Amino acid sequence: MMSRDQAIAAIDDYYQNGDFEAELAGRISYKTESNLPNCETALEAYLEDDLVPYLSNMGFICNTYPNPRSDAGPFLVAKRIEGNNLPTVMTYGHGDVIAGYDDQWDNAMSPWDITKVGQRWYGRGTADNKGQHTINLAALRAVLDIRGSLGFNVTLLIEMGEERGSPGLRDFCEAHKDLFSADVFIASDGPRIHPDKPTIFMGSRSVFNFTMRLDSHAGGHHSGNWGGLLTNPGVVMAHALASMIDRNGKILVEGWRNTRIPDSVRAAIAKLDVGEGENTPDINPNWGEPDLTIAERVFASNTFEVRAFETGNPKSPANAIPPSAVVFGHLRYVVGTDISKLMPLLRNHLDKHGFDEIIITSERDMMPATRLDPDHPWAKWAIQSLSKTADDEIAVVPNLGGSLPNDVFADLLGLPTIWVPHSYAGCSQHAPNEHILESISKSALRLMTGLWWDLGEGNTPRQIS
Ligand SMILES: [Zn+2]
Repeated sequence: MMSRDQAIAAIDDYYQNGDFEAELAGRISYKTESNLPNCETALEAYLEDDLVPYLSNMGFICNTYPNPRSDAGPFLVAKRIEGNNLPTVMTYGHGDVIAGYDDQWDNAMSPWDITKVGQRWYGRGTADNKGQHTINLAALRAVLDIRGSLGFNVTLLIEMGEERGSPGLRDFCEAHKDLFSADVFIASDGPRIHPDKPTIFMGSRSVFNFTMRLDSHAGGHHSGNWGGLLTNPGVVMAHALASMIDRNGKILVEGWRNTRIPDSVRAAIAKLDVGEGENTPDINPNWGEPDLTIAERVFASNTFEVRAFETGNPKSPANAIPPSAVVFGHLRYVVGTDISKLMPLLRNHLDKHGFDEIIITSERDMMPATRLDPDHPWAKWAIQSLSKTADDEIAVVPNLGGSLPNDVFADLLGLPTIWVPHSYAGCSQHAPNEHILESISKSALRLMTGLWWDLGEGNTPRQIS
């Protein structure tokens, strides 16, 4: 018991004595802007000059691998193996960042240094994701220092292309599945549900983007000569949409709704507050699935949106019947939705309602939604450890409302996935003025130290089962 406290005291010290700032500042200084040309040198240097020496000092065996996509950044796989009878955790981070937008930061701050203003530490990658994996690795080292060993094995994967949509990640993990066999996946990215509320999430909804198009005529036709004689594709498209969703946002396409919520997921979601905080829009309590709570609607059901809808030329409307209409729609979907059926179900629906002339196309590869049951032994274990360190109940989000390529870890590698986010919704990630909050960093360092400590205590789900 004392030792867990000692490890946490050591991580408090790491923060107080400036080491956290110094280590993070070193990582922030690499311009790892994976979306920009000529970033290769920085992407490689981040691994070779910073993480590899750092991890080697902690007894990790480090290997970097080229990306299976020749135009994308490398992967680092670092392993510290203490014994075959010990649990193995896979952890993950990304060392690439969004472009710095160097001249757009307030007060001429540089994105490549840390600038401290009150609670905020500004810098590109502080929140997404250098700050988050720096916290997790420092916590690991604190446990190693105090205990002398971890008490578990670690496989760390760092990718350098997450901000480009993780090119090659799936292929790389598929080709090297043997490297990633583990008992549990624990990593950090994204925001807490509230800055003061330690949070875990365990999966995400996913998104199905599609286009509906109706071409009725070769060109526009004067409505004085042809109105009443020609089909107006905008009107037909509006009726097609009205057949797909009612005026209060309830989905009407047969097979597209998904309102089966396991009791454990329902119980976890019941404790979450949605839509609170500054600069948040007003929620319409009558929108969406009528029989679900507000939180269940965003976390536990499928939702359909019209993203864009065009007919004619809205910038310069003519007195004419437009030739075509196009809708860009999407469905956010939860676990349990058969994604291979979404397009056929839409086709059936449109045909059945007399809209067989509308052409539908799916915009991109779909990935499955993921969600770990909050009653899963590893979820319960993590919740207990984090609550103990926080001395408070934590927020348990079965899956994010947004999307994340968690299926690579959850489905392809078959791991129970637990994410412990160390940022908050107002962090300006992907924009100028990205920052982290001191209060969250301090708390996150302690939470992760407690979590890694407990993982080596010998009473994890793996040993019990
Ligand atoms: Zn990002």
